[in-house]
Amino acid sequence: MATSPEQQLRAYVDYLRDMGVYDLYAREAPTAVLPEDVRTRLLEAASKVAAVKSAAPATAARAAAPAAQQPRPVQPAAGAFAARTAPTPPVAAPRPPATAPPRGDAPAFFGDDAPPPLPPELSAPMPKPKSFDELAPLPTQRVPAADRPAALAALRAEIGDCTRCPLAYAGRHNIVFDDGSPSARLMFVGEGPGQDEDLSGVPFVGKAGQLLNNMINAMGLKREEVYIANIVKCRPPNNRAPEFVEATTCSQFLLKQIDIVQPQVIVALGKTAANYLRGNNDSLTSQRGRWLAIRGAKLMVTFHPAYLLRDPAKKGEAWKDLQQVMAELGLQPPARKA
Ligand code: SF4
Repeated sequence: MATSPEQQLRAYVDYLRDMGVYDLYAREAPTAVLPEDVRTRLLEAASKVAAVKSAAPATAARAAAPAAQQPRPVQPAAGAFAARTAPTPPVAAPRPPATAPPRGDAPAFFGDDAPPPLPPELSAPMPKPKSFDELAPLPTQRVPAADRPAALAALRAEIGDCTRCPLAYAGRHNIVFDDGSPSARLMFVGEGPGQDEDLSGVPFVGKAGQLLNNMINAMGLKREEVYIANIVKCRPPNNRAPEFVEATTCSQFLLKQIDIVQPQVIVALGKTAANYLRGNNDSLTSQRGRWLAIRGAKLMVTFHPAYLLRDPAKKGEAWKDLQQVMAELGLQPPARKA
């Protein structure tokens, strides 16, 4: 099976992530280093994963077809790990269903070459992220309002066509950087782009974005007057929450955005945003409804608009959170039309 070094590395990372290893990128001084023999065997295992991934769709289709329609062995379809040069050996007949291995055992296709168990440090539960206050010292000077658009543009240029974390390879269409005023007193932080945001390149434009617009308007503001960004700038597949390595890799950019805009108040939308901003794994309930602080700004945690769409009964509680923000910023709700 011939694969490029990039494909081998990708398969290796996929394999480790399947095994529950998430912090490959995060540690400046790793506390656990893979022994050479383990690393070699994992690389061999990753190549087998690549081979199985390439062959699986064709094998499944053949297994599902009646015997009379069974095709002759053919080259596997080109996929992420398809062979580029090596001839493809004839495909073996489908095996009878195997008994599922006990949780923690190597998958059956590793056979006798199953890799040894990972060191406990690498299969440990998700580590606690650093808070945004721990990541870097607070800036000693404010960026003048006139310079903020250029500073944000320079940061966007620094991000470029980013491949710093696995979300770069998860089917994104656009890096979703920000929206709103670089001089905003109020900043909203969500967890990551969804499908609409990924396609448009603008945060909070889908149904949840429409509800966020309504919340902003109810506070007596326009969307153009606030600043909106996310913990991660690329869409996590299937709208899942960003994983540790993704969030902690991308947070360097959100941190700089906050330091450039220097809002008076930050509203964290949902548990994931609050957890990564504050460096904890606390529940939303324990964090919302009261003033906290992050990077020199007052922080209010409230429900994510997507959650409010699923549970509209919580809108009243979210409104109480936003009323505290309004009081802090001296905002009045817009006058009702007669
Ligand atoms: S999520 Fe952030 S760190 Fe990851 S690829 Fe996108 S821009 Fe880069």
